[in-house]
Amino acid sequence: MPWNTIGHEWAVNLLARAAATQPSHAYLFTGPAQIGKLTLALDFARALNCVGPGERPCGQCRSCQAIAAGRHPDVSLVRRLPDKSEIAVKQLRDVQNELNLRPYEGRWRVAIIENMHEANLNAANAFLKTLEEPAPQVVLLLTANTPEALLLTVRSRCQSVPMRPLPITQVEEVLRERFGADSERAAMAARLSGGRLGWAMEAIQDEERLAARRELLQTLLDSVPQGRSAQIELAGRLTRGDRDVRGVLDLWLSWWRDLLLVKGQCAGAIVNLDERERLLRDAGHLELRAIGRYLTIIEDARQQIEQNVNAQLALEVVLINAPV
Ligand SMILES: [Zn+2]
Repeated sequence: MPWNTIGHEWAVNLLARAAATQPSHAYLFTGPAQIGKLTLALDFARALNCVGPGERPCGQCRSCQAIAAGRHPDVSLVRRLPDKSEIAVKQLRDVQNELNLRPYEGRWRVAIIENMHEANLNAANAFLKTLEEPAPQVVLLLTANTPEALLLTVRSRCQSVPMRPLPITQVEEVLRERFGADSERAAMAARLSGGRLGWAMEAIQDEERLAARRELLQTLLDSVPQGRSAQIELAGRLTRGDRDVRGVLDLWLSWWRDLLLVKGQCAGAIVNLDERERLLRDAGHLELRAIGRYLTIIEDARQQIEQNVNAQLALEVVLINAPV
């Protein structure tokens, strides 16, 4: 199986054609976390530099294997270091310097910048020059959760590859057939993933992840009757350090969307299957309009966080406004 990417056929076709002919000098892969942006970017990097005889990437040749193992001299991956809050200017400088050199052994020098939205304004501006005047034989692959999270000057210089969630049924099928998950777990993880295959794959291999999700949901639900000061304290706790605030808000969104579904007599489509009883109970004493209004508040906060506003404040507003 030459491409590791599952689904996203149009993007695979587009990139396969580009690799066989003339690629653009920069691509921007966008979509929610764990949807498959990095997998697709790595697939493309292999297709660009594959030395196999047939369809590219072959997955077998020296070049494909070196890229998969992260040790191809012409392919670099830049990502925020785990103990840092942003991609460092120096990381981008180093890769810019490398990109000025001719490819060492491949056809193309490829730089993948994962989560470009984690580079600060200075770093992004410094990187612009490379986007504006790339050396020949350079292909830049940026990923970001949304295009809006990047400077217009950055994203306008990239060919856009927007990745959408896969159909839930497709995720479910992959989990069952390729990962041997039983039907119930596959259904649950597929729905919870919202069509993000990477998330679903991790979830079925990691019992703790689903347990942690349940625990976080419980903490959020408990905060509703506790009032303002407890909610402000919780917002502080959930945004400290390296916490994934987007994940917290996505989880909370999934709960309130489920409540809306139950209210609208569509309980069959809920995501939080393991909390069905509680959803039915809570929906009984909440008003449809209040749920709708509240969803807008959560969605606004979710968007603001993509634009790098103060996460703690955004989460406080969300928690404080929860309908009781
Ligand atoms: Zn190959």
